[in-house]
Amino acid sequence: ASSKEEASVPGRVRVAVRLRPRNAEELKADLDFADCVELEPELHRLKLRKNNWDYETFQFDEVLTEHASQKRVYEVVGKPVVESVLQGYNGTIMAYGQTGTGKTYTLGRLDEEDDSNRGIMIRAVEDLLSGISLKDDCVTVSYLQLYMETVQDLLAPEKENIPIVDDPKMRDVLIPGASVVEIRDHKSFSELLKSGEANRAVANTKLNAESSRSHAILVINVRRLVSEAQEKSSPSDQGFLVPTIRRSKLVIVDLAGSERIDKSGVGGSSLDEAKSINLSLTALGKCINAIAEGNSHVPIRDSKLTRLLRDSFGGTARTSLVITIGPSPLHRGETSSTIMFGQRAM
Ligand code: ADP
Ligand code: MG
Repeated sequence: ASSKEEASVPGRVRVAVRLRPRNAEELKADLDFADCVELEPELHRLKLRKNNWDYETFQFDEVLTEHASQKRVYEVVGKPVVESVLQGYNGTIMAYGQTGTGKTYTLGRLDEEDDSNRGIMIRAVEDLLSGISLKDDCVTVSYLQLYMETVQDLLAPEKENIPIVDDPKMRDVLIPGASVVEIRDHKSFSELLKSGEANRAVANTKLNAESSRSHAILVINVRRLVSEAQEKSSPSDQGFLVPTIRRSKLVIVDLAGSERIDKSGVGGSSLDEAKSINLSLTALGKCINAIAEGNSHVPIRDSKLTRLLRDSFGGTARTSLVITIGPSPLHRGETSSTIMFGQRAM
């Protein structure tokens, strides 16, 4: 049990901030404009511009500049969680930020032309597959979308409103209606992600919803055959190893855009819709704060997203949060609130 405790970081969310490079429009707009942030990666610090001469400084576990490669981002944000999942712990990797700041680029990017551009999801699956024995062990995935407190199966779009089953006595969260696909190589996984993305677009057109308003949730289950030392019955007992099945789970969440939607009224949504769209994100923030403050009451039941994460978040699970921001001073307000979300998680 002691090694189990060492390997986990209970109740602690590791937070990295990633700045995306200026896009073409931002480059064209004004080459001289000052970015709204300045990064000091060696010091793990980010400075948010208050005005022309003053900055506010924030500390993060990791600060990833616009030059950080996808490989580096994976090593910082993904790999530690993936490694603990291989050791039998549950884990969660999440990206939070305003639409257009690089959440999907960071997590879901496939890029078949250039391997070096691939995101965390595919790298994680690759590392999980190479960390297990393909003979004895297995990796399965489900891919879901959560929109307005409704869970959809991105691998079987005809299934709508899938229930989440969580027995309070059990640690497990079950999604019995969701498709489960075994993955044996990363190529079949990228095919699956691609068809998931296509289904997501179709489902959203049908719902008249923007994909930036929904959460994409990849659930990876790992089942390993391990040898565990049998408990010794007496000090003279030599003990022996018994084969045991060990299960762990990695959940990767591409969160809905964090921007406020009340005033812009995305897609002409009503206030009720706006509230429902935000519900899971708000609930997630509350849970993250509760964990960071060591509060024994974590309001996990308040939303579908937090219910889904119940067994892979907090406790002995490892959680990594990457907050994504852009450089433009035009979005300083949103950038500031993203930074605050990240700060409250620490
Ligand atoms: P989000 O999912 O947060 O809405 P995206 O991942 O779709 O944002 O990114 C928005 C745009 O910015 C995309 O065209 C994406 O390719 C580009 N982008 C995001 N992050 C980076 C980065 N680190 N390097 C280069 N391009 C990026
Ligand atoms: Mg996206």
